[in-house]
Amino acid sequence: MNIGPYSVEDYMHLVKSFHGNIAPGLIIGGFMVDLARSGLPDGVLFDAISETSTCLPDAIQLLTPCTIGNGWLRVMNFGRYALCLYDKYQGEGVRVFLDPEKLEAWPEIKTWFFKLKPKAEQDASALRDQIIEAGTEILTMQQVKVEIASLPKKGKGAIAMCPQCREAYPSKDGSSCLACQGNSPYGHEPRGAKPGLKVVSAANKDNG
Ligand SMILES: [Zn+2]
Repeated sequence: MNIGPYSVEDYMHLVKSFHGNIAPGLIIGGFMVDLARSGLPDGVLFDAISETSTCLPDAIQLLTPCTIGNGWLRVMNFGRYALCLYDKYQGEGVRVFLDPEKLEAWPEIKTWFFKLKPKAEQDASALRDQIIEAGTEILTMQQVKVEIASLPKKGKGAIAMCPQCREAYPSKDGSSCLACQGNSPYGHEPRGAKPGLKVVSAANKDNG
């Protein structure tokens, strides 16, 4: 049995080096990508959507040309364990999801997927064995058509210099960059401030 061009064993090594551990979701994700590719016509140029931000995007990045960085993979985080591969020009494609209706025969997978037991009480090796044995049997594939025009645009558009942090940003975001508009994850200005940069606190930025 293979996952993409790899033996299951080699794929698991690859997962470990890329993802840090052999997450069950990434093994299932490998079968999901395989099934989805089998549902696309040969030679079609496809883009990908992952409906979760957990694990699945990494399986897509390992097994297809689609990555977050090249823009061919979009994460639309609905929290569903599902992916879609679709013709990047026409939108026709397939959606594959981990189907709860098919988990009755696979109790370890069901326990893991629905978190029926704390992780420490789950049997990790039985889980892995069941995932590999089940392969694509726990998955369902659907035909879909992605409405390409409705997807958020990939391009950044015009670029401006942010008056507060003095870094480049897409000017469509407003009169300053999104970080300086209060969305920064840093509690205060990063250390090693740039020469001449005036630190403006959020409370008085409107007053200059
Ligand atoms: Zn800024």
